[in-house]
Formats: sequence, structure tokens, C-alpha cells
Amino acid sequence: MKAYIQELEVRNNKQKDEYIKNFLRERNIPFSTQTFSTLLAEGENIIVDYPFNKNPNGKKIYLTAHYNAWFKSPGANDNASGVAVLLGFLEKLLIENKDTALKFIFFDLEDGWAVRGGSKAYVREFGVSDVEKNFNIDHVGMGRMLLLWPSKGNNWLNPLVNNAESLGFSPFHLPTARIVLITFPAERGFVSDHLSFLEAGCMQACSLSTFPKEDLPLFEPLLRGEGRLRFIYELLKYRLFGKGTVPKLMKHYHNRDDRSEFVEEQNLQNMLTLLWRVT
Ligand SMILES: [Zn+2]
Repeated sequence: MKAYIQELEVRNNKQKDEYIKNFLRERNIPFSTQTFSTLLAEGENIIVDYPFNKNPNGKKIYLTAHYNAWFKSPGANDNASGVAVLLGFLEKLLIENKDTALKFIFFDLEDGWAVRGGSKAYVREFGVSDVEKNFNIDHVGMGRMLLLWPSKGNNWLNPLVNNAESLGFSPFHLPTARIVLITFPAERGFVSDHLSFLEAGCMQACSLSTFPKEDLPLFEPLLRGEGRLRFIYELLKYRLFGKGTVPKLMKHYHNRDDRSEFVEEQNLQNMLTLLWRVT
């Protein structure tokens, strides 16, 4: 699946959109698109329903990943990794059938000024009444820690957690839907498209992200809501001067070093197996 990332990372956001649509066309996988505009940009989501060629009524499991990257970043981990896993999943569905109704959405404009623009536009137009659950895949190319956010100790994630452990991931439960960096004047920090589903009233929505085990001591205080200023300070220092005690994940985040050479194929394969088992 790393090959998909290598194709995506050299393309700009418009070309990433075309790449995914061509991927689907070449394999005769039917899809639809949703175009939308925000104050700041125009966007396009790509939607695939499974079983192909049918759009059954009733609840579906939503597998989602944003395809746009942060400005000039190649976006290998953020988020060609998530897209690659969904493309791999679709390829597998061409060979092996599943009994489950699924909906795949490749979201536009998650990153950038329109923040979650694609997923907000989707829930605004289509609602969440047919969403049984949403697994949003964002940053899964690096590391064996599996962040589940939010994970509130309810049962719906149990099958995923058990399977993740059997595949060699170490689940890390985050009770909140965002990773807060700043609390004033409003909460700001890391977030992804799952939040749009939660805000629209779907309570079974969760983002899956991986990070390296060696990053745990640096992330843990932040995930507990501590050491935010320190984290921001070190991050800024790294951004400006190339120094600073920042997690490995952040060294390849929203910058030119978010490249496929740092993405691990094994992670992508395991993530695909995990999603396959829980859908
Ligand atoms: Zn992302």
C-alpha cells in the first residue's frame, strides 16, 4: 500500500482527488462525489458505497479518511496513509465479498484553513442517521501505539481493541475527541473528521491514529492535558530552528518531511487487517 502513498505524495490536493477517482474508475468501482464550498475554499468528497452498485437502506459502517494535505506538505502519513488503507480495503473487496454494508468517504479540506471542511459539509447535507459507526483513519503509517480518540470506555470499541492487540498494536485510549493545545479563547489543538460525526449526533465515531512507542513519554502528559505550553514551545523551536524535544511523529507532521520513506508498510497492512476484522 506504500505504493499508493508514493503516488499521492507527489501530487497536489487537486491531483490527489483525481488519483483516487481514477483508481476507482480503473477498477470499475462506482463512486459519487459531493462538491461543496466553504468561505475559504472549494472542496470535493469522494464517496463509495458497498455492496458496489447497490445503496441499501439501513445503517452502515463508515470508513473515512481525508485525502487533502497540509499546504505544501507531501502528506504521506497525514493522510495518504489513511487513504492507502481504504484503497487497499476496496481492492480486497474486489476479490473477497463481505456481508456488511459499508460507506467509504475520502474527505477533502480536513487540513488547512477550512478545518474539517469535507466532513462538516457531508454531515450537513446527508446527516448521520444511517451511520452505525465511523472509523476515521488519520495518520496510521508510523508506530505501533494505536490512539483511539475519543475512547470513552464504552463497549463498541472492544472488538477493535482486542483485534488491535492481537495484531501487535498497543491501544492508547484518549477520552476526548480533540487533543487540546490551547484553551483560550477557545479550545484548539489536534482534531480530525470524527468530530463532525460526533457533533452531528453520531456517538459511535472514533479516529484511529498510530504513533511510535518512543514518543509515548512526550505525548503522555499532553494526552492527560498537562504540559501544553512546554509542548507548544518545543514544537515551535523545532519548526523555527530544527531543534526541540518533539515526538518523532511531529517531526514528520505538516512539513516537507512527511514523506513515504518514513511510513511503514507493516503498519498499513495491519491497519487494513484490523478494519477488515471489525467490519
Ligand atoms: Zn490529518
